Amino acid sequence: MYPADFDYVRATSAQEAVDLLAQNADSVLLAGGHSLIPMLKLRLTHPARLIDIGRVDEIRGVCEKDSTLRVGSLTTHNEIASSEIVQSQCRFLAEAAGKIGDPQVRNKGTIGGNIAHADPASDLPAVLVAVGATVHLLGPDGNRSIAAGDFFTGLLTTAKAPGEIITEIEIPACCEEGFGCAYLKVEHPASGYAVCGAAARVKMDGGTCAAASLAFNGVTPVVFNAWSDGSPLAGGPADDAAIDAAIDELAIDEPMGDIHASGEYRVALARAYGKRALKAARDRS
Ligand SMILES: Cc1cc2nc3c(=O)[nH]c(=O)nc-3n(C[C@H](O)[C@H](O)[C@H](O)COP(=O)(O)OP(=O)(O)OC[C@H]3O[C@@H](n4cnc5c(N)ncnc54)[C@H](O)[C@@H]3O)c2cc1C
Repeated sequence: MYPADFDYVRATSAQEAVDLLAQNADSVLLAGGHSLIPMLKLRLTHPARLIDIGRVDEIRGVCEKDSTLRVGSLTTHNEIASSEIVQSQCRFLAEAAGKIGDPQVRNKGTIGGNIAHADPASDLPAVLVAVGATVHLLGPDGNRSIAAGDFFTGLLTTAKAPGEIITEIEIPACCEEGFGCAYLKVEHPASGYAVCGAAARVKMDGGTCAAASLAFNGVTPVVFNAWSDGSPLAGGPADDAAIDAAIDELAIDEPMGDIHASGEYRVALARAYGKRALKAARDRS
């Protein structure tokens, strides 16, 4: 399949990308191309112009700032999976990035493209929601920030405005004393996309659970944020029986069903993998 004709321009900075987007409303950003190029080839989208941000180094890389982890939107899945800072500060993000697709996808695909595309079967959105990340954007009116829990609004849809570029994802440190996190998934055998993914983060205070968050991808059309604040585990022992009971009571409405898995099966996977992810996170705390 060949895409429809388009113009191509390369941006050298995030601001230039925003200016170029403002010049032509029928433009789209190109990062790693691993979601956009297939969409172009299938003619599911046919923009007049591609704005290549692939060499905008100011939005690439991982660093620590003010006790948070900052991941530039152009950072590849492989760079995240192999980053010692991410492995030590946000272990389940490194785990999720390392489970994406295959080496080619991980070497080209970026975190910004992954969350902007908002495929319900993508791995990173559930982790970012469970950890309470913040998405930073630059647009014609300057900078703004959106909590990851509010960023994903529907199937392939986000709160990002068309003229904005994602610049950075800010992640609270989540592997300090008492915290544990884990990401587990059942992957489609051909693409690696999640049939069901579960991202869990647990804070233990001695034998008591102080907080727990849990989010799923692959199960519903938009990331399913099961608990952020107000986990039923908080204040209790978070032993296996408590985790099993909490997940058994979880309502998972309107699951997706397709040729790969029925909605009913995805819910069953979510219950099994939610329990496993929470237990793994607790055991790491
Ligand atoms: C064979 C295959 C297997 C895959 N398996 C998995 C998997 O197992 N798990 C998984 O999570 N993903 C998987 N993916 C998707 C992969 O992670 C993509 O790389 C990712 O979803 C998109 O990132 P990208 O950098 O390639 O973005 P692109 O394809 O370049 O762009 C995707 C969209 O995001 C927009 N965009 C890109 N960067 C920005 C930015 N900084 N600001 C605003 N908008 C932006 C683009 O305009 C476009 O609309 C797979 C892809 C393929 C081809």
